[in-house]
Amino acid sequence: MSITPLMPVYPRCGVRPVRGDHCHLIDEDGTRYLDFASGIAVNLLGHSHEGLIGAIQRQAATLMHVSNLYGSPQGEALAQRLVDKTFADTVFFTNSGAEAVECAIKTARAYHQAAGNENRHELITFTSAFHGRTMATISASNQEKMHKGFMPLLGGFRYVEFDDLEGAKAAIGPDTAGFLVEPIQGEGGIRPASDAFMKGLRALADEHDLMLVLDEVQCGVARTGKFYAHEHYGIEPDILASAKGLGGGFPFGACLATEKAARGMGFGTHGSTYGGNPLAMAAGMAVMDAVANDEFLAEVTEKGERIRTRLEQFIGNYPDLFELVRGKGLMLGLKMKVESRPFFVHLRDNHQLLTVAAGDNTLRVLPPLVIGDAEIEEFFDKLSAGAADYVIPEAA
Ligand SMILES: *Cc1c(COP(=O)(O)O)cnc(C)c1O
Repeated sequence: MSITPLMPVYPRCGVRPVRGDHCHLIDEDGTRYLDFASGIAVNLLGHSHEGLIGAIQRQAATLMHVSNLYGSPQGEALAQRLVDKTFADTVFFTNSGAEAVECAIKTARAYHQAAGNENRHELITFTSAFHGRTMATISASNQEKMHKGFMPLLGGFRYVEFDDLEGAKAAIGPDTAGFLVEPIQGEGGIRPASDAFMKGLRALADEHDLMLVLDEVQCGVARTGKFYAHEHYGIEPDILASAKGLGGGFPFGACLATEKAARGMGFGTHGSTYGGNPLAMAAGMAVMDAVANDEFLAEVTEKGERIRTRLEQFIGNYPDLFELVRGKGLMLGLKMKVESRPFFVHLRDNHQLLTVAAGDNTLRVLPPLVIGDAEIEEFFDKLSAGAADYVIPEAA
């Protein structure tokens, strides 16, 4: 047998972390890495946050899981907290981002079908989007690399160029249920939608009675200096998918909706065995305690601006390597003029700096939101050293 016990769907690298220490990861062989990847925008409190660890330990010793057949004081408390903090009136808890997007898709379809509009099932989605790896969420993306081998796709998605408002408008038809969009594309290369695009989608949704569904799985939960990224645009969605940072490392997600948008989601329409379990709720509450306040959000904004300004100065020293910096808060992307993946590997293997590769030759800089001056200095030391001794590989 040659297949590995871990199904070989990931080309895993040689870094094999066994321990976390605040903003660092420690490998099997003791090597320390500066973690500016945060498990892909997940570990927003770093790896040894006492509040989060304590909450999980206490809850694990008290009650981990029951079932959604029972009343949920823990779920009610966290849902109330999210409702108080956001546009939403109601929340469904999931175990992952893709499940949160699934619930969002179902909620958008059910909104129309509950009113007898059986044909209005189609969501307009955008090029280079990433919404997860389930059948519905790969079908929602135009990226063929995720479709290959898994045909046929689920129907009901129509792709339009990202940030093209006229294209989105032209795609609206009698079957359209709404729009599904990341306000800032993550996997697509840290590409923020323009203000006009987001405001325009909101206006089109209002005009045509469509659901504006936001996928904030990566850009949400304080990452950009707002609790949710759509707040930068001065608009509110009807439905929003959240996950990643929401548990700070504990796997869970949420689908948030207004009362109106959730009109099709009555008893028995949706469910999850684990969703909203007390352990996840305890983790979520600890994350909210830490990040859902103006002081914390202001710090994220300030650190983000500081890093961005320095990154912009830095890339000026290497005009052959870097094109531009984009993103918001601590969701930053460094778009390269050369292939970004080998540089990302070089930073990782030769300078012990972890970032995340993304589409459009972009390096994702996603530090824990709790970084301090020392980590910022270390980041620039490693990045500068990495750029200085980088040899652009010969094209294959
Ligand atoms: C990561 C991600 C998802 C999928 O989340 P999983 O927890 O991996 O299922 C969906 N949408 C966006 C924007 C993401 O970044």
